Amino acid sequence: MNQTERRRVIEQEVIKCSRCGTCRSICPVFLAENNENTTARSKNRMMEAVLEGDVELTPGVQERFEKCLLCKACKAHCGSGVATDKLIMEGRAAAVAHNGLSPAKKMAFTGLRYRKLFDLGLRTGALFQNLIFKKLPDGRGCVPRILLPGAGLNQRRIMPNMTTNPLRSRLPKFIKAKTPVSKGRVLFFTGCMLNYMYPEPGEAVVSILTRNGWDVVIPEEQCCCGTPAFTSGDVETGRFLAEQNIKAISAEKHDHIVTACASCGAALKHEYKHILDNSSLLSTWQEISTKVLDISQFVLKYCDLSKLGKLPFKVTYHDPCHLVRGMNVSSEPREILKSIPGLKFVEMKDANRCCGAGGSFSAVYYELSRKINDKKLDNVEDTGMDYLVTGCSSCRMHITDGLTQRNSSVKVLHTAEVINMAYDAASRKEGKAC
Ligand code: SF4
Ligand code: SF4
Repeated sequence: MNQTERRRVIEQEVIKCSRCGTCRSICPVFLAENNENTTARSKNRMMEAVLEGDVELTPGVQERFEKCLLCKACKAHCGSGVATDKLIMEGRAAAVAHNGLSPAKKMAFTGLRYRKLFDLGLRTGALFQNLIFKKLPDGRGCVPRILLPGAGLNQRRIMPNMTTNPLRSRLPKFIKAKTPVSKGRVLFFTGCMLNYMYPEPGEAVVSILTRNGWDVVIPEEQCCCGTPAFTSGDVETGRFLAEQNIKAISAEKHDHIVTACASCGAALKHEYKHILDNSSLLSTWQEISTKVLDISQFVLKYCDLSKLGKLPFKVTYHDPCHLVRGMNVSSEPREILKSIPGLKFVEMKDANRCCGAGGSFSAVYYELSRKINDKKLDNVEDTGMDYLVTGCSSCRMHITDGLTQRNSSVKVLHTAEVINMAYDAASRKEGKAC
């Protein structure tokens, strides 16, 4: 698509908005701030004014586009089907082209382009994290020792400890199925957060796959899925990372692609379409996208649920935006959880409402993201459950931060961890090593 065609597509989307205001009742940012400027219709109007040349892309206008979680709730509730999330990303891209990125984002996204250097930086950072972060005594994470607002670090924000032994270092590239006969090969796209912050759910994914008869391949050349970059308006970096991943994935023989991160999955399955415009790898991506499944979809379709053992847990489930509206996954994790013997499942109020993380949104607007998160935490605690289960590391980090600050007894687990625990329980009962 050339610039003129792209502009026409944006204009056609913008004029679909009838300014009815239905999106006000669902937008988490508007509900927290009660400011019309934060609504989808206001952002659509702003985009129209920019297109017509009535408004310049000043840093103030850029901030209007940035104050959005890209949760897609407005689109899901819009009678006219306006893809406001896409318009906001177009607005961010135009604003970045005009004003540039913030120094922190510029540094971070440049780092993402150099996979090996990025890896070395995070491993070194993990070794020396105690210089910047203070570990909490109960092992539930760490807090920054100093205020670093430029890097999105608020002194009351509780972060997960970074692992000094990332997921992709713990596991070999090829892992054989644990059954005598293999059903095929699954490519596991780990993403960054499972690799560097939450390796245990990643290990659970591999365990689930191999015990169900699937060989696993974890491509070494995979890099960040690019979501942080392209959602921030750095389309060039997003596209570079997408192309690296397409090359890394297509270089490995595989039957299915599994993700366990909502944002990685949505990027690989759908979002790359918008940034690979005119790329020679577009058709390769189209083929790849048909094979992408979230781990909960894969388990429901290709794994044996009759072998799940008893778990004496009480759980509720939070829908990550990029899973429920990004990949259309919501019934699958629930169906699996409900099929685990002994596990009590209680639905929370507004389970599919954004938790307020929104990637870098929670770094830039920490207090606002906490306010949005507080509603989620109230709903979690009202269920009286022991665990909150979810399928997104970013949601997990933000919700754990809030629960820990509240001294709540509720713990957060990834869906894959719960499934794997249930398989472990059955293996223990049978007296089998797993
Ligand atoms: S985005 Fe949709 S719901 Fe919101 S004002 Fe426009 S038409 Fe109405
Ligand atoms: S994507 Fe979410 S935060 Fe952004 S305008 Fe729509 S409802 Fe509001």
